[in-house]
Amino acid sequence: MSVITCRNCGADMVVSQPDRIHTIVDRKVLNWKDYVKFTIKCKKCAIPNKLYWSKPKE
Ligand SMILES: [Zn+2]
Repeated sequence: MSVITCRNCGADMVVSQPDRIHTIVDRKVLNWKDYVKFTIKCKKCAIPNKLYWSKPKE
């Protein structure tokens, strides 16, 4: 699990990785070839936040 802050209100959101492979999370794609897009709704302000999960470089 990782913690991401809401882009709107700054509240912490605990996010679980979508599978065993994609373990790195960020709010933007960081030069990744393989990633999984995810949207999480903030519990505090209800704004949807986009997340991207990637895997560690070999
Ligand atoms: Zn929020």
